[in-house]
Amino acid sequence: MNRAIELLAPAGDLARLKTAVRYGADAVYLGGKRFSLRSRASNFEIADIAEGVQFAREYGAHVHVTVNIIPHEEDFDGLNDYLRQLESTGVHAVIVASPSIVKRVKTVAPKLEVHLSTQMSSTNSLAVQFYRNLGADRVVLARECTMEQIRSLCAHSEAPIETFIHGGMCVNYSGRCTLSNAMTLRDANRGGCAQSCRWRYHLYQDSQKLSEDHLLFSMGSKDLMAADYVKDMIEAGVASLKIEGRMKSAYYIAVVVRAYRQLIDWLRAHPDEDPSAAVQAAQQELMRAENRPACTGFLAGIPGPQDHLYDNAPSRVTHDFLAQVLDYDPARGQALIEVRNHFEIGEMLEAFGPHLKNTPFVLETMEDEEGELVAVANKPLQRCWINAPAVFHPYDLIRRKERKL
Ligand code: SF4
Repeated sequence: MNRAIELLAPAGDLARLKTAVRYGADAVYLGGKRFSLRSRASNFEIADIAEGVQFAREYGAHVHVTVNIIPHEEDFDGLNDYLRQLESTGVHAVIVASPSIVKRVKTVAPKLEVHLSTQMSSTNSLAVQFYRNLGADRVVLARECTMEQIRSLCAHSEAPIETFIHGGMCVNYSGRCTLSNAMTLRDANRGGCAQSCRWRYHLYQDSQKLSEDHLLFSMGSKDLMAADYVKDMIEAGVASLKIEGRMKSAYYIAVVVRAYRQLIDWLRAHPDEDPSAAVQAAQQELMRAENRPACTGFLAGIPGPQDHLYDNAPSRVTHDFLAQVLDYDPARGQALIEVRNHFEIGEMLEAFGPHLKNTPFVLETMEDEEGELVAVANKPLQRCWINAPAVFHPYDLIRRKERKL
């Protein structure tokens, strides 16, 4: 159990990359503006990637870049130059979904590790070995593997294995879907998925409408939340645990990365103890991010009706993100914060951070930088000094336990 396992987090932009690393990710993955699925989710030019690599290095973390389009003929234009640029910025690995690009990376930019994308639906050790022989340094398994299969795959594969532990699921076999193409002309395999499976549909049998207007039907799956499988995955020899969600907010990234970081660290420190309480604490914390309803995907076997997202109603948001800490003055016992959401004097708030446990407190004092009293924080990016019941650090976050209606 003392073997280090990588916690791999998504980064939709530089700010979220830094949040993921500060909150405990060992590595982050991001997409550039070309050659990447979810290219719409990316703000990363080469200069941003270079800055991200530098920042991650300060924390001993790695940066992986997706180069995972299913390439058509014209998609190879400029690819060699792009790969060389990634290599020269110090990117650790590229995530690739094409055998030809696996081979190309090895020739053109050999310092880059090649991680085979989940888009290739690797579900058995023979497939993993095939891609290993082709040059893949790691294989990201299909989300459609059970825990039993992951155990066997790790035992019978030379290539390090990466598995998903958290985030969205495709209701079709991951990435092998043309729903979005058919309905919106947006190609899911070229970064444009419109998530058509999660739209709300009327059900018909022939011409007879089965659904009622207030009970529409979604084809989506509940999200994956696999905190109760982290111990199994470590023991199975999985090399990396991956969180999905390059479109998610910085608050989501902070909460989810921190929850899995704390769970992994607890498991390493207490290898022989019952992990139930630590798993439960992680699950409770994960529910404080803005998740859809969650399940354990395929890990326990084929998902059942209870794992289907029938109406795509969001799960209850139990916490609102309110502000980020910029500074702390120990002499005043106050923190300088930057406001992101409406709150006011007298409310019960909660601060948390990479090194700050969940700290509830009542907001008793608030003043602007000129010393004027503030009763209500309601301007985006407004800066205020507030009372702090503990030592707060820059990049700690403040949230409210219950949604204010
Ligand atoms: S439409 Fe749904 S199932 Fe298809 S690729 Fe997009 S998320 Fe996956």
